[in-house]
Amino acid sequence: MLLIKNGTIVNPAEKQHEVGDILVENGKIQKIAKEIPVPESDVEVFDAKGLVVTPGLIDMHVHLREPGQEAKEDIHTGTEAAAAGGITRVATMANTKPVIDNSAVLRDVQKRAEDVGVVKVSVIGSISKNLEGKQLSEMGDMAADGAVAFSDDGHYVENANFMRRAMEYADMLHKMVIDHAEDMTMCGGGFMNEGKVSYAMGVTGRPAAGEDIAVARDLLLSELTGCHIHIAHVSSKKAVDLIREAKRKGVNCSTEVTAQHLYFTDEWLKDYDTAFKMAPPIRSEEDRQALIEGLRDGTIDAIMTDHAPHCNEEKNVPFNCAPNGIAGLETSLASTLTVLYHQQGFTLDRIVELMSVNPARLLGVEGGVLREGAPADITVFDPEKEWTVHGEDLYTKSLFTPYENITLKGKAVLTVVDGEVVMKEGKVLK
Ligand SMILES: [Zn+2]
Repeated sequence: MLLIKNGTIVNPAEKQHEVGDILVENGKIQKIAKEIPVPESDVEVFDAKGLVVTPGLIDMHVHLREPGQEAKEDIHTGTEAAAAGGITRVATMANTKPVIDNSAVLRDVQKRAEDVGVVKVSVIGSISKNLEGKQLSEMGDMAADGAVAFSDDGHYVENANFMRRAMEYADMLHKMVIDHAEDMTMCGGGFMNEGKVSYAMGVTGRPAAGEDIAVARDLLLSELTGCHIHIAHVSSKKAVDLIREAKRKGVNCSTEVTAQHLYFTDEWLKDYDTAFKMAPPIRSEEDRQALIEGLRDGTIDAIMTDHAPHCNEEKNVPFNCAPNGIAGLETSLASTLTVLYHQQGFTLDRIVELMSVNPARLLGVEGGVLREGAPADITVFDPEKEWTVHGEDLYTKSLFTPYENITLKGKAVLTVVDGEVVMKEGKVLK
């Protein structure tokens, strides 16, 4: 039994925001009340006075790299990182080796996650076989076996007609398609955001227009097919505008933004530091402000990490040679609280919507709410705790983080998955 006492319960799905206690037993939330007396039987009491208690955070876009790329990350280390960051469920992408494009690989990943996962793992199947954009993956089989969505993330599906067929098929299966929206004929040769900073650095850019064009096409395909399109990691101002307008027209679409796109701008890349290299790239201050505005007005539905670790020897190379992607699971909550709560005045309720309620709804999985009888997936965090990030202290295998030596305000202190404490005071216990 676990009794979390005196925490500020922020539970927007139930319109609850008040100090109270939560009793957990047999993996479920037994009771939520203003005050629950400490039972006489064996109970662990966690004093959450001054802390915030929320439904477990859900990161709907990560790369656990398994199978095939365990040198970068594996399901154990990736989910340790999630637990350390206060995240109780991740959805992992299909660009593994082999690709998750059939049920056999999908079930292997699910089984591995059950065996060695510290938090819950949902699996996303690919759209196309081997991410080649030519033949459909075994979407029907994978949907039947629990794939939560389909995505060729890491790759843009270049062929519009193929994407149309994929979306028609996904819609029949009642699954969304998650879209890595970057037209590679425009972005493929670039290494960072195209703009003042890239010109000054002499680095070839990935223009925002490449993202905007891809987003526009796939919103149009959503309108044509009715399929739910989820635009992954939106990063440009115009893309946010396009999605806002599509939502207004009733197009079946949603979108997400990474914590790092809300924190950094391309000015941070001036030292050619590969820890900032990702796709889509970190963009301008104007784009960053547009992303924050998109979160404020409901255009953007979720905050995630695109946790995409690489080996240190892969990242520790000249800027243009390094792969795109960074580790993010252990910094996303802290970064989000720093930017949105402390600097921008967002409410904790809105932040919990973006990091738990909405991702649960979009993925169609349990969670996003604290409710008696529901699985006890709970995150407790200290919104005021300041800490300085050092890559070598993190659970992820990657040593590279753009937050190196940056002091963030806010930190997860307790992560509970199915009633089990998997992280306490920064230490992963499983
Ligand atoms: Zn992507």
